[in-house]
Amino acid sequence: MKYRAILLFGPPGAGKGTQGKILGQIPNFIHFSSGDAFRSLRVDSPLGRVFVEYASKGQLVPDEPTIELWSQSVQGLIANGRFNPDADTLVLDGIPRNPRQVEIMEDLIEVKAILDLFCPVLDKLVIRLQRRALKENRLDDANVEVIRTRLETYKRETRAVLECYPDTLIHLIDSTQEPMLVLLDILKILARLRKPAISDGATTFYSKSSAGSVLSRELAASASPMSELHSGTSAD
Ligand code: ADP
Repeated sequence: MKYRAILLFGPPGAGKGTQGKILGQIPNFIHFSSGDAFRSLRVDSPLGRVFVEYASKGQLVPDEPTIELWSQSVQGLIANGRFNPDADTLVLDGIPRNPRQVEIMEDLIEVKAILDLFCPVLDKLVIRLQRRALKENRLDDANVEVIRTRLETYKRETRAVLECYPDTLIHLIDSTQEPMLVLLDILKILARLRKPAISDGATTFYSKSSAGSVLSRELAASASPMSELHSGTSAD
């Protein structure tokens, strides 16, 4: 059986964790953050050591152990009754993080929507991440060089994940808004997922499925209200 999933997508510092934690409080939504899963490992465990080695440089942990950690975590959630695949939806934060991970997870998850928390100016995220370093005691947020590498890694490896899914699944959300308004946008989208896929009369005005489509969508969204960007989304 494939697990029903929603992907929380966006660069480091876009607010995936903040929103994911809130969404995880809604009945039938289960938040899973791959970064949190890695940080919960003992640093002297074999995978904990691998995580520190890569994360401290702003790089991605290799794909196979990452998916293995995800898979084991989900099995654990099922075993202790916190995730019921028949009724619940996983809110995946930070995974899949490159096209190879999409491929490995293809038979394991059914992606119902991708919430793309985009930020038109990536440099703004540097400031946010430095603030988070103090609040959450995260070593990978403390060093500007590491932050820059993580943003580069996002641009180079992670953004390509969006090209692996149909445009109809992707919802753009302006992550520069205050968290409450980001949440409002997300909830409107999730609420629509519960309804049959009928058009709400909205128009899309970006080209579909061309190589540069993600960027053009992001530019279009930054100049336009969200409500104008999306017609219906896929139904249950
Ligand atoms: P952020 O989104 O703020 O960069 P995360 O908490 O999602 O941070 O991830 C922290 C680090 O954990 C990443 O820089 C990477 O080293 C590792 N990581 C998390 N998720 C994945 C993943 N799906 N694949 C590979 N590495 C990952």
